[in-house]
Amino acid sequence: MKRLLLLLTTALTLSLSAQDIKSPSEFLGYELGTHFTRHHEVVDYYQYLAKNAPDQVLLQEYGKTNERRPLLIATVSTPSNIRNIEAIRTEHLKSTTEAGNSPIAIVWLSYNVHGNESVSTEASMQTIYDLLTQKKEYLENTVVLIDPCINPDGRDRYVNWYNQYKNTPNNIDPNSKEHHEGWWSGRSNHYMFDLNRDWAWLTQVESQYRIKVYNEWLPHVHVDFHEQGVDSPYYFAPAAEPYHEVITPFQRAFQATIGKNHAKYFDTNGWFYFTKEVFDLLYPSYGDTYPMYTGSIGMTYEQGGSGRAGLGIVTGIGDTLTLKDRIAHHKVTGLSTVEVASKNAIELNKEFEKFYANKNYTYKSYVLDGDPDRILALTKLLDMHEIAYGQVKPTSLKGFKYSTGKTGTIKLSKTNLVINIDQPKRTLVKVLFEPMTKLSDSVTYDITAWSLPYAYGLDAIASQNLITKEPYVREKVTKPSLSPSAYAYLTEWNSFKDAKFLAGLLKNKIKVRYSTKPFSIEGKTYQRGSLIISKADNQNLKSFLKNLKEITDKHDISLQPVASGLVDSGKDFGSNHVQMIKESKIAMLSGKPTSTLKFGEIWHFFEQQLNYPLTVIDSDYLNRIDLSSYDILILPSGSGYIDFMDMAFKEELNDWVLNGGKLIAMGGAIKGLLGESGFAIESKAVPIDSTLNLEVFDETQRESIKNNITGAIFRTKVDNTHPLAYGYKDTYFTLKNGSDAYEYLRNGSVVYLEDGQNIPVAGFAGSEAQKKIANTLIFGVESHGSGQVIYMIDDPLFRGFWENGKLLFANALFMVN
Ligand SMILES: [Zn+2]
Repeated sequence: MKRLLLLLTTALTLSLSAQDIKSPSEFLGYELGTHFTRHHEVVDYYQYLAKNAPDQVLLQEYGKTNERRPLLIATVSTPSNIRNIEAIRTEHLKSTTEAGNSPIAIVWLSYNVHGNESVSTEASMQTIYDLLTQKKEYLENTVVLIDPCINPDGRDRYVNWYNQYKNTPNNIDPNSKEHHEGWWSGRSNHYMFDLNRDWAWLTQVESQYRIKVYNEWLPHVHVDFHEQGVDSPYYFAPAAEPYHEVITPFQRAFQATIGKNHAKYFDTNGWFYFTKEVFDLLYPSYGDTYPMYTGSIGMTYEQGGSGRAGLGIVTGIGDTLTLKDRIAHHKVTGLSTVEVASKNAIELNKEFEKFYANKNYTYKSYVLDGDPDRILALTKLLDMHEIAYGQVKPTSLKGFKYSTGKTGTIKLSKTNLVINIDQPKRTLVKVLFEPMTKLSDSVTYDITAWSLPYAYGLDAIASQNLITKEPYVREKVTKPSLSPSAYAYLTEWNSFKDAKFLAGLLKNKIKVRYSTKPFSIEGKTYQRGSLIISKADNQNLKSFLKNLKEITDKHDISLQPVASGLVDSGKDFGSNHVQMIKESKIAMLSGKPTSTLKFGEIWHFFEQQLNYPLTVIDSDYLNRIDLSSYDILILPSGSGYIDFMDMAFKEELNDWVLNGGKLIAMGGAIKGLLGESGFAIESKAVPIDSTLNLEVFDETQRESIKNNITGAIFRTKVDNTHPLAYGYKDTYFTLKNGSDAYEYLRNGSVVYLEDGQNIPVAGFAGSEAQKKIANTLIFGVESHGSGQVIYMIDDPLFRGFWENGKLLFANALFMVN
């Protein structure tokens, strides 16, 4: 008896009854919606719940952001479900491979992926509180996973900014400063990446940590909470066309079921909403599509508001939209989602199992061929998605050949990678690898092609037969020992891995040369760009060999020692055709007129991929900087360059390049260099299509897509004798995100569209846009006095996942001289 009493008291002290749990307002000390809650306070509230209702809330820190804020996931259910949580999870996952038998629905609610869509995290606190109190009955057969903030760095950037700049009391006048966030807005993460474009590519730490927990659960329903413009009514599922063809009739229908339930609540409250418009389900890297492709009902919900709305703002029709309103709407859809899942738990389980049983795809195997470093980079991505792969027996294989776009054959070797659809993640495999995505509608605001063989610069065969797969054994790099008597050490220049190795050498003051001609020595042939590290160049460097060995090991590089600088064919190491690589000082422009996303891609590239120092210079004080302190200046793409580039700045740039500076102008930045700037680049003149003006009013949006390329893949021609293209073959697959078109350069057109290459190999390009880009430049180099201008019309670093462009960008930094 005594013992039982003791147990009872322990339970009582551990778990407060529902009535005793503090609401967010009680806990925070202000009414929710009257003040923005900083991330550490949000963390405090979730920790409070986990501590005071441990039988219903489990809290896990699943990672840390770049700025070291914790990423949290709260698992919420009834005490009895929480006691059996591990059994519930494993039973659910079992249904991806065999008949499962779980009556429990799994719902995952993700908040605030876009940091300045700041209502979401506030709403998450009210939602979890209501689930634990008045809506407990939903939890009887449902486990709810709540991620209160996918992007804490971005959200805190917004919240701290708002708290600093707001009026007291807050000002609802839209002209007030508190409704005008600056360039460095809170939407994206630390590196200015859009985390809602990163689910499939996993380039950012937040995504990498999250996918691990996500794969441990693979929920039946996933909601990504967002905000849109202040004047937009609420948006919820069902989504707009195009839908990817793998989305099942049940997934479509269930979105509608959920939408109907939301509509019921919104109607009762007299709130406006819309469905089936704008937000489509195609691009695989969103928080709705990615869950769809792993069997979930993936949905985006959009409240009106975001970084403009603050605590309250006057809307276009004269109403006042408050943070409290926004919280109320997101809370209703969150709870309504859980309600529908709970009512349909059995069906959700049955259909989830059916989704994973479907093997009805045309291509059964994808076999990839090419540079081992690129294959290695791809396997790292596949590992994160828990996609299985293997190697093949040496034979030959016929199927759809990516490099030619026709039926063809490749000879298989052990280094090839095979990905089969006889695995649970087969739908995701199809979506990421299929050569051409079927489009049910070409009006979409994101890219329409992303097939990974093109992105990674690998050739591939898509086969309609299932290929026998053997366990993948990574070939060990053979590393000859570094002998102090060697004249020099050599390595080839083939992949981005080699560029990271070079960056490591330069940072450690090791001098490196590269050959501008192919050569052979001691029985081995080296292509253009191969690195030569000589004893003579580094004789004054203390612990040269020790450092060299460390960097070589770190990057897993095979260095070949040679005894002489006299080559068997090609140019000797003392020739003018062998050049020294400069340890360049590099600066990049930030702020207006650059795009935050394009700026972020390059920033992340330098710090988290290449690992090479970069100075970021804001446009605010650029005119006070002495450019001659830098060897390279990067102008990221952006839309405001024409106004930004006044004559004085153009002249300054021109002089700097003439005196040996290297300017890398990307995308929209090129527009600033047109006209009377002294630079050679010229827009392609295009006749205006007069029929566009004659369209019926209602058809104008649909007609305007004739001019669009939102994102499609094109085969291009490469002059790989040019340093910008060292390490490449004669074809490069580029992702085009627009129809800006420039004439070939007289000298230095390195990557370009030849006759007939204006038709995409994958994705949609409007008919007028195709005409416009015919025979135009993609990447080129203009020699200008003692310096160079490198033009990048397309983006070789697109969203950090276009793996094949990274070497080209490194060439621009290190090889072009
Ligand atoms: Zn958003």
